[in-house]
Amino acid sequence: MEKHILSKSTYIKGEQCLKQLYLTKNKPKLRDRMPAERIAIFSRGTNVGIYAQDLFHGGIDAGPKHYSQYRKAIELTAQLMTDGQKVIYEAAFQAHKTLILLDVLVKNGDAWDAYEVKSSKSLSETYYKDAALQYHVLVESGVNIRSFSLIHINADYIREDEIDINKLFIIKDVTDEVKNRAQTVSLKIEEEIASINSPEEPDIEIGPHCYAPYDCDFIGYCWKSVKRPSIFNIPSLSKEEQFNIYAKHKSLVESLEYADLSEINRMQIQAQLNKKAYLNQEAVRNFIPDFTEAYILKLLHFTPALPRYSGSMPYEAIPFGFALQKIKTDGSKGDIIRFMANGKTHPKELVYSKLKEYLSDDIPIFIYANTEAKIKGIDVIDLSQLLKKGYYYRSKITKDYTTKSLALAMGIQTPFKAIEMDIVAAQFYNDILDGHKDSMDRAIKIKDYLDRELRIISGFVFGL
Ligand code: SF4
Repeated sequence: MEKHILSKSTYIKGEQCLKQLYLTKNKPKLRDRMPAERIAIFSRGTNVGIYAQDLFHGGIDAGPKHYSQYRKAIELTAQLMTDGQKVIYEAAFQAHKTLILLDVLVKNGDAWDAYEVKSSKSLSETYYKDAALQYHVLVESGVNIRSFSLIHINADYIREDEIDINKLFIIKDVTDEVKNRAQTVSLKIEEEIASINSPEEPDIEIGPHCYAPYDCDFIGYCWKSVKRPSIFNIPSLSKEEQFNIYAKHKSLVESLEYADLSEINRMQIQAQLNKKAYLNQEAVRNFIPDFTEAYILKLLHFTPALPRYSGSMPYEAIPFGFALQKIKTDGSKGDIIRFMANGKTHPKELVYSKLKEYLSDDIPIFIYANTEAKIKGIDVIDLSQLLKKGYYYRSKITKDYTTKSLALAMGIQTPFKAIEMDIVAAQFYNDILDGHKDSMDRAIKIKDYLDRELRIISGFVFGL
């Protein structure tokens, strides 16, 4: 059997941008290092597919144990089908120089029903594209397909005692949609293969496609020509707005001519051009109450794809731990109080009640970029609003107002820690609950992260 050229993931890369596909296949060393937060996002839904297999009992897994064993997987799938196996998980097929692994294949009379599982709460255009590719390869492989369905998570599902798998998942028959796309898929495969084999890299400009549907792996390589600072360094503009402006004005100075800029956009562009900080003292004074002492709070949430506790929903943000520290206007700091729930039962009430044990009503509580500005009966002051409302800005704050860029901008020393974003801390916590072999180490890293965040928040308060 000839080795495949495309797989589902490389096909989708080519759908996004032919240059990305070309580089993936021909110059993989140019790929950006994958940030930990992106890995954490990917791994959030990894067990959903395995879990959904229980919708179809008695299957045999034909998937390759290692990517290089795809041939064995194709042969095993064919053998299982011949032997009369009714349900096959990770069924492997190759046709039109393309390899696919289908989540579940179910025998239905003398035909087959195909199912692909998505760990999201809704179906996007990309999922239809990848379903159409799978359908095409199945049909080209000679499989008599009766129906093709996408399975995704029911956003409204609330877990009772145990997860009811039939209510947790929604099965959507997309047979008509994938059949209608058959011709397009065939042409697209030809185009992608021609592009891979071309002697020249495709001449494709940067654009919104660099971030949609996924962040491209080659942004570092392709974006070298964008002179910094650029309109893409202005955090108050959405990606779409940034590209609209960039299409008309390549330099940041010229972008000031763009008519639809808000006051905050203009202030941030000026700050970038002049390399100066901006502070609206009056607005900051009104935002932050007078205090002699205050609490600095960092609260962590995790968002498991599968509802972990009775009463919880898929992807619900569940608080699991915090760190709290008292600061005084003379610059002194109290001891850090840390708490992390063991997660055996729903941590939310425990986290809030623990937190309330340490707080007193007349002392303000500062947080930074917390998703819940009012935490169940506790009034907090979200300092990230100072940046989002345009009261404060520094030119080094270039990316979505993260604490990482805030620390950099304010010169707050935070030696590199394994965790630099909430989403990675959430993934580590999830790992601990799943009994990861490095749980102790992960817990220490979460503690380090909490300390780091407190340091940044207090540094911000003292630096204002
Ligand atoms: S960075 Fe943009 S232009 Fe470059 S390969 Fe990726 S998607 Fe294509």
